[in-house]
Amino acid sequence: TDDTVVIAASLASLRTPKVETFDTRALQQLDSAHFLHPFTDHAALRDKGARVIVRGQGVYLWDSDGHQIIDGMSGLWCVNAGYGRTSISEAVYRQMETLPFYNSFFNTTNVPAVRLAAELVALAPPQFSHVFFTGSGSEANDTVVRMVRRYWDILGQPERQVIISRRNAYHGSTMAGASLGGMPGMHAQGGLPIPGIRHIGQPNYLEAGQGMSENAFGLVAAGWLEEEILAVGPDKVAAFIGEPVQGAGGVVIPPATYWPEVQRICDKYDILLIADEVICGFGRLGTWFGCELMGFKPDLISFAKGVTSGYVPLGGVLIGKRVAHALLEKGGDFNHGFTYSGHPVACAAALENLRILVDERLVEKVALDTGPHLKAAFNELATHPLVGHAESCGMVAGLNLVRVKGASMHECVPFERALQVGMLCRGHMFELGVIMRAVGDRMIVAPPLVMTRAEIDEMAARIWDCLDLTLEDVR
Ligand code: PLP
Repeated sequence: TDDTVVIAASLASLRTPKVETFDTRALQQLDSAHFLHPFTDHAALRDKGARVIVRGQGVYLWDSDGHQIIDGMSGLWCVNAGYGRTSISEAVYRQMETLPFYNSFFNTTNVPAVRLAAELVALAPPQFSHVFFTGSGSEANDTVVRMVRRYWDILGQPERQVIISRRNAYHGSTMAGASLGGMPGMHAQGGLPIPGIRHIGQPNYLEAGQGMSENAFGLVAAGWLEEEILAVGPDKVAAFIGEPVQGAGGVVIPPATYWPEVQRICDKYDILLIADEVICGFGRLGTWFGCELMGFKPDLISFAKGVTSGYVPLGGVLIGKRVAHALLEKGGDFNHGFTYSGHPVACAAALENLRILVDERLVEKVALDTGPHLKAAFNELATHPLVGHAESCGMVAGLNLVRVKGASMHECVPFERALQVGMLCRGHMFELGVIMRAVGDRMIVAPPLVMTRAEIDEMAARIWDCLDLTLEDVR
């Protein structure tokens, strides 16, 4: 029909870059002359030049040379609602016109921040009653460190200072965030971790679960927490923090037994349990928060990214009633805050983003439709000769590149590290227009929650072609 033709034409035009030209080389030269990028080797950047991203729509990006790219990483695990949401830009515009900024210190507040706090508490598990707003996930985790130590102080146990986290975890780049994180490369720079942070092993079945069932391994990995608590002394431990599914560490999906056992151990020693939901929150795993899927009840949740789908920076900490009661009823001033805590424009963007997630039922869609479809696509990719195994959880997935496939994941023969096969593969992804991240030889995706079944198939087809090219490189 005429309508179908018109719709198809407008869809096609939406997906084609606007005719706008950029001098890519000039931009790259200016970039490498003046822009110090996060986590970037600038010598390599100078040689190759940065890719300049100029536009986004839905799950697609375009670079300054007009290449169309499927964004398998949602920007940086954040663009849950997809690119090009004019209703978010309009909400931001309206708020900027009305009140671009006011602070929330000194007994003042603003309308979007009040509404967002209430909305977040309504979406969160029932034990939550309050929200503290920050500008990022790193600031959220810094806030967590200050908050749990303050909590124990108020309760007359100031010696409870130690926070236990996991090796290879990523919790941000501020001093406390990077300290909570367990990335050796980060600790090696800048004298980290700060005092009072300890790290235990991560529940990585591939690395540490050989000879055990997954569920048996989950109990063993949770047991490392109890060992550490006893080594430190239970009366000195304030909290345990972890991501429900570890993201930047390589999409480490724990066995089903892990989190319930962690919860049991925290309860046994009366230790606060914190979920870093900066990646898992807002639908990534097919539930509003990852802790709901993994079966545990945290006292605090740190969040960021998906709360605004990355349209403007915003983060925060959801505070459970146990901690809120102490802070609010017994604590007096909590001497902590950021200029942008409860920023009205960021909160307006978040409110509209949450409306989209709710009205379009994106979280349910991940659970029942696109998440299972992504799993099927990755199971198919696991049949590629270069792939040892693949796994997924909601809209995150990972696959391991191996020299020789084995009957089980523990029987695969990995590549020598020096070959950097993951980076080779990532290079091909770049060329073929799909963004996937390499963590060693593990390739991971976390696409926007709006990605359709057809777009998942298109992404998987491009990944398959990249795997073919990588296989030719290593033959
Ligand atoms: N926590 C987790 C689990 C993250 O993945 C990140 C960022 O990737 C952070 C915290 C830090 O958030 P931000 O980069 O907004 O400071």
